[in-house]
Amino acid sequence: QSNLVSIAPMLTKLQRDCATPLPVLRHVADAMADDMRAGLAVDGGSDLKMILSYVDSLPTGNEKGLFYALDLGGTNFRVLRVQLGGKDERVIATEFDQVSIPQDLMFGTTEDLFDFIASGLAKFAQNEGGKFHLAQGRMREIGFTFSFPVKQTSIDAGILIKWTKGFAVSGTAGKDVVACLNEAMERQGLNMRVSALVNDTVGTLAGARYWDDDVMVAVILGTGTNACYVERVDAIPKLQGLKSSSGRTIVNTEWGAFSNGLPLTEYDREMDAESINPGEQIFEKTISGMYLGEIVRRVLVKMAEAGALFGECVPEKLSTPFMLGTPHISAIQQDNSKDLQAVGSILYDVAGVNSDLSARKIVVEVCDTLAKRGGRLAGAGIVGILQKMEENSEGVMSRKRTIVAMDGGLYEHYPQYRRYLQDAVTELLGSELSKNVVIEHSKDGSGIGAALLAATNSKYE
Ligand code: ADP
Repeated sequence: QSNLVSIAPMLTKLQRDCATPLPVLRHVADAMADDMRAGLAVDGGSDLKMILSYVDSLPTGNEKGLFYALDLGGTNFRVLRVQLGGKDERVIATEFDQVSIPQDLMFGTTEDLFDFIASGLAKFAQNEGGKFHLAQGRMREIGFTFSFPVKQTSIDAGILIKWTKGFAVSGTAGKDVVACLNEAMERQGLNMRVSALVNDTVGTLAGARYWDDDVMVAVILGTGTNACYVERVDAIPKLQGLKSSSGRTIVNTEWGAFSNGLPLTEYDREMDAESINPGEQIFEKTISGMYLGEIVRRVLVKMAEAGALFGECVPEKLSTPFMLGTPHISAIQQDNSKDLQAVGSILYDVAGVNSDLSARKIVVEVCDTLAKRGGRLAGAGIVGILQKMEENSEGVMSRKRTIVAMDGGLYEHYPQYRRYLQDAVTELLGSELSKNVVIEHSKDGSGIGAALLAATNSKYE
């Protein structure tokens, strides 16, 4: 049986260490705004890279014609086509396909990887028909979402800094990924071209903006996390003379690297120390889907060791890093039954542990504590962005309505997390101002968003 006498104080300490009362949220929001300012001043000026997207015109709804999108960000790549009909007809038709990337290509050469992608794209383009029509004399244009660290140099060019997420393709780092794709398409005899290279947050912003002019910020909360927003060109000192016809441009914050003033625990520090990138992406490690389950697991292991939470020994499965995923802790929190039957099954299936009701109750509390901290800190980050925008009279005080477009599996599937995020935004802004801010799920907007950016940045306009 669990020894509640020693576990209860551990839970209390965890809750204290993870607490996010209003002053902590304020500090995080202020620090986020400060770091954004520093990152806009000079490259390398802050934890936040504040990467220029070169996207300075967003979709209006008037876009017309056939456009493609290509999304490479993990073990799958996705292709999509959309036929746009302008203000009245809007999205006439879309079609998409998904291809998984063979393991060996993730460790192969640049040419092999891009040839594979180009041939997948060629196959997809071949089946175009029905409602899809390319205007006479035009080439098919692509919005290319490439979710790896890139130094963007123009709307349609960007140099790969390094592969991440398990990719180790030789010869790509330091090269323009658009040129790599263009060359592969030429080798395939495929007559298409990339008109826009976009980060997935920027794609989400563009996809949501197509439907509503008040979308100013986009946030992804999935495996990782990132955010982008609309900034005024004259508020970006490091831009040095680069002009934008609209006077505005999208800035990709790379906010996962934020680290200032976060309430962290011994469990966070240990997880970070054992990670592949110690000391990096601290905000991401505190709020995003890849890590929430793992932090919970670490807490449960300590409780099992110190207080026999699940009987005398610590189950081996529970001791395996990343055994407990964020989908599991979300499922644990959805159990409203009296005896927490579902919690018991998840613990047994995932971690191989038998639990009594008192242990299950503690597990639920631990999950809630970390979801609450994550959601509230994400909310504070959003308010930090809104505060920064306020300096140029484009924030919530000055606008009647501001929409924050949200996407990602964590936001989509974890209702408690979503509620904590909204609560923090409301607390920080106050009930009056927060009425002007709409935090809205924009599901899978990034694919269509990339195609829309190919349209807005078409070579033919
Ligand atoms: P990615 O961020 O990998 O591109 P997604 O936006 O679909 O893809 O996010 C996937 C992530 O969302 C998972 O890694 C997981 O952390 C989180 N997630 C997925 N399902 C759930 C769920 N039911 N509850 C909570 N989090 C979830």
